[in-house]
Amino acid sequence: MPPVFDSSKVTVIFVLGGPGAGKGTQSAKLVDSYKFCHLSAGDLLRAEQVREGSEYGQLIRTCIREGTIVPSHVTIKLLQNAMTAVLAERSGSGDGWNDGRGRFLIDGFPRNIEQAKSFDDTICLSSLVLFYDTSEDVLIRRIIERSKTSGREDDNLESIKKRLRTYQKDTMPVIDEYKSKNKVKTIESSGSIEEIYEDTVKIIDKLFTPPSEIAN
Ligand code: UDP
Ligand code: MG
Repeated sequence: MPPVFDSSKVTVIFVLGGPGAGKGTQSAKLVDSYKFCHLSAGDLLRAEQVREGSEYGQLIRTCIREGTIVPSHVTIKLLQNAMTAVLAERSGSGDGWNDGRGRFLIDGFPRNIEQAKSFDDTICLSSLVLFYDTSEDVLIRRIIERSKTSGREDDNLESIKKRLRTYQKDTMPVIDEYKSKNKVKTIESSGSIEEIYEDTVKIIDKLFTPPSEIAN
């Protein structure tokens, strides 16, 4: 069976990096300029966790607290459903969303090799990985700061340590695998949000011209 979405029309960019690396922040900044749809796998899981009638609520809660990876079929289905809905909703709106075309930033996914393979084979072949790279010290410091306001059950030192372990063990191999396919753009991300965004834009500019400039 071919993938659900045709990668010549639907562009998927994965956004990876440790917890607190700035994946969500940078993705949100890219949305306006390039008309991306930003999907955060973690946010989709948190929404499913509290959805009335979900059979996965308890499983998701436990995985998130323990910093482990929710079974792939759950996350992949949530991503597929979200992509289908957004493609229908934005169809014909222009800015890269005509004729079944679309462009997605998928943040915090894939978190292990099996998810990467399964998504590329069955949902949509991804075209690029933006990899936000910084030290564990920086990651821990940022999440402790974020914990003051995030309300996230996994923004505490114990969960952070578990998340970092999962990241090293399961997610770094994904980055290495895509590196071997020349699909990774690494962005040093210890600096300020603005500095990191400047480096991000340089990479994305080479792929897409912001729609506002097409008309000129
Ligand atoms: N998670 C998962 N599969 C995914 C993405 C997230 O199981 O594809 C779970 C995992 O337990 C992870 C948590 O959701 O630790 C939070 O992920 P998120 O990406 O929101 O955290 P971040 O890395 O941005 O801090
Ligand atoms: Mg995030």
